[in-house]
Amino acid sequence: MIPRVIATIDLAAIQHNLAQVRRYAPQSRVMAAIKAQAYGHGAVPVARALESTGVDAFAVACLEEAIQLRQAHIKTPIVLLEGILSAEEAVLAADEQFQIAVHDHWQLSLLEALPESAEVSIWFKLDSGMHRLGFPLNETASLVEILKRRPRWRFMGWMTHLACADELNNPATQQQIEKFNAALKGLPGARSIANSAGILAWPETHGDWVRPGLMIYGASPLPDRSAADLGLRAAMTLESRLIAIREYDAGEGIGYGQTYRCPERMSIGVVAVGYADGVPRILPNGTPVLVNDTLVPMAGRVSMDMITIDLRTVPNAKIGDTVRLWGEGLPAEVIAAHAGTLAYELFCGLTQRVQFVYK
Ligand code: PLP
Repeated sequence: MIPRVIATIDLAAIQHNLAQVRRYAPQSRVMAAIKAQAYGHGAVPVARALESTGVDAFAVACLEEAIQLRQAHIKTPIVLLEGILSAEEAVLAADEQFQIAVHDHWQLSLLEALPESAEVSIWFKLDSGMHRLGFPLNETASLVEILKRRPRWRFMGWMTHLACADELNNPATQQQIEKFNAALKGLPGARSIANSAGILAWPETHGDWVRPGLMIYGASPLPDRSAADLGLRAAMTLESRLIAIREYDAGEGIGYGQTYRCPERMSIGVVAVGYADGVPRILPNGTPVLVNDTLVPMAGRVSMDMITIDLRTVPNAKIGDTVRLWGEGLPAEVIAAHAGTLAYELFCGLTQRVQFVYK
């Protein structure tokens, strides 16, 4: 049986993109962000592909994600970006030797409650301007004092997260870099600032460790630079098939709300993919899809299981032909822009109905 909707994940592209990270930030170690099922690409296969090419660490959001990787025999160090959320998680994280990004005093108190012999690996997360997670910058010296009380703890370093690195003219990034560096002047420990946009656009953020996510999956985080320009290869291609082709007269309305009106007698194709697969319902008329190497516009609303497309420029299209929603030749960033969102959300939004194939 041919699967209805297929997400093909090109693991060689993921390995290529890791090599590109190393080319952009040659002095830095690489902590690849594979949280949220590797941005929807599948955490275990992606981790295996990256591990086989020698990534230095993985970053996940939470303990469950880290455990999934260990159960799949991933040996590479794993960092918990949200840290630990309970005393029980503190014990588990220490036992499993996960690195904990500690961002608050209540997390520190959970770790300090562990037996003194516990070998805990920690990062300190600092808030340099994102104002989401992290200790205030004026607490760095007191955090170092806490470390002195815990000689068995392994201190990995300091991290912070950039709020606006994708905006090349926004002074906030430079301010974050300066504040972070000033707060750590003279203090021991590795430094980690850069996400993908930092790696690509802000070399001064590279430091000891970079933390790429999006660029590993071959999408550009920068609005004015395509992934291809940046030397990245799309890892995910989402495809379905034409299941009906119909001719309609000028003036006929297509789909829910009849939001598309045929300007002439024309053929409309029906594709077996909808918002229940992860194609955003908000995508407007005109959003491109690829049919037999030709870009054609969507015509009518995305419904739960189907989309409708304008087939006027592909007269040879037939039932069963493959229709590409995004991927090679049709960047997810472009489709995301039509939906008023980012490729991150498209990748993470695929549902269980989508069949994943790895190549
Ligand atoms: N570091 C942290 C703390 C993050 O939360 C994320 C993702 O949100 C990343 C790195 C990777 O970011 P990006 O996917 O933009 O490279």
